[in-house]
Amino acid sequence: MDRIKNEIVAAIKNYSTIIIHRHVDPDPDALGSQVGMQHLLKHSFPSKEIFVVGEEIDKLLFIGEMDHIPDNLYEGALVIVCDTANLSRISDFRFGLGDRLIKIDHHTDYEPFGDLSWVDASYSSTSEMLTDLSLEFPDYLAMNKEAAKSFYAGILSDTGNFMNRTVTPRTIKLVSQLRTYDFKPERIHNFLQVKSKNSSRLQKDILMSFKVTEKGVAYFIITEDLLNMYNMDRNEASNLVNTLSSIRTNKIWAFFIEYPEKIRVRIRSRNIPIDSVARQFNGGGHPLASGASIDTWEEVDLIIQALDQVCP
Ligand code: AMP
Repeated sequence: MDRIKNEIVAAIKNYSTIIIHRHVDPDPDALGSQVGMQHLLKHSFPSKEIFVVGEEIDKLLFIGEMDHIPDNLYEGALVIVCDTANLSRISDFRFGLGDRLIKIDHHTDYEPFGDLSWVDASYSSTSEMLTDLSLEFPDYLAMNKEAAKSFYAGILSDTGNFMNRTVTPRTIKLVSQLRTYDFKPERIHNFLQVKSKNSSRLQKDILMSFKVTEKGVAYFIITEDLLNMYNMDRNEASNLVNTLSSIRTNKIWAFFIEYPEKIRVRIRSRNIPIDSVARQFNGGGHPLASGASIDTWEEVDLIIQALDQVCP
């Protein structure tokens, strides 16, 4: 691992243009690690050009805005992909146009890619990995207020507000380092926790009408019609997945969200590993938080059946 980390830092030193990607449907860790890395690099190498690309999510713009760059900037550039386990999930398919590709990720490495790859599933989040890397290489990845804020948002969100079992003494130690920078954590908490009125109303609807199997697999389907009814975007509605976590008898819970070209699946579990089911449907993720994309509503039943099967 030390060799890889040194090679990553050496590569960063070598390139004058660095373009940072992350996964589609970004969450705060995808954006926090991507934008945080941009701040580390801009701060340490003011003469380099550092860009972040991918689709933007209104609610997460507080972490950082994306750059809109032409293809030719990829010529001779270093491309870093944060928090993305599979090639097919990289947001902005131009990632292959660069000169060299680096993967930095905390998901189990079922699909290795990149000329250099630092993957370590013992970290809670990619933001935690980059915080650690920055502290190890302070001369080349100098921590600063903006980077600390981005990484804090990523770690906070990917650890379920520091409540998941992925939080280790190392996580706490690194977060305590981030908190020495003068950003306002309560503002991040507010951005991530506070909901719109419509979102709260939909939450009530979810609690009133979710379905659950005898074994305790709870699920809710978010259709286009429902989104229109509540005048909400998909991302905001998707973020309500953990509404179903507060019910003790729900052992596993899932959301199915209708998109124009796919159905997005978000699966969560209290104790039972569900990532194998996500992989069965060409998805992936962590043991207790996984996702997939499916094409037809018939597959919803198949996923529920498969989740039932992993329930003891
Ligand atoms: P999400 O429900 O989108 O927050 O995703 C939970 C976890 O599953 C994250 O680690 C994602 O990277 C992963 N994941 C979500 N969707 C997919 C997918 N279609 N393919 C592979 N991994 C996914």
